[in-house]
Amino acid sequence: MNKIGFQFHTPFIKNDPLWMPFGDKRTKVVDNLISLRKKYPHFVINGEKQLSLMKGNWGGIGTTPIQCPSWAMLSLDHMGRIKQPCCIGSADSKGLKPICEECGLGCYSVLVANGIKGN
Ligand code: SF4
Repeated sequence: MNKIGFQFHTPFIKNDPLWMPFGDKRTKVVDNLISLRKKYPHFVINGEKQLSLMKGNWGGIGTTPIQCPSWAMLSLDHMGRIKQPCCIGSADSKGLKPICEECGLGCYSVLVANGIKGN
C-alpha cells in the first residue's frame, strides 16, 4: 500500500449506528485526518478542502443531492442499469436511497471541493 484515501460511512436509514454524527467528535476526527494529510502529503490522497466537507452536510437535503454533482458520474449495476442517485444507489426506484445530507463519500465530495457542484 502506498496511498490511502479516507471517507465516511453514508447511511441509508436514520440512526444507523455506523454513521458518525456531525458534531464535536466527528470534527475532531476530520481535524486529525487533516493533520495526517499535512504530515504525509504524498500518502494521504484527500485534500484538506475535501476532508473539511466531511464535518457537515455538503451533499443535499434528505435523499436528494443538491450540492453533490451526482450527474458527473454514470454508475451502472451488474445488469447495466443506471444507479440513482449515485454509485451507492440502486437502479430500483423503490430501493432504499442513501441519505445525501449525511453523506461521507469521497468520490463526489472531491468534485465539490474542486468546484464541481450541483445539478
Ligand atoms: S454521493 Fe450519493 S449519497 Fe452522497 S450526496 Fe451525492 S447522491 Fe447523495
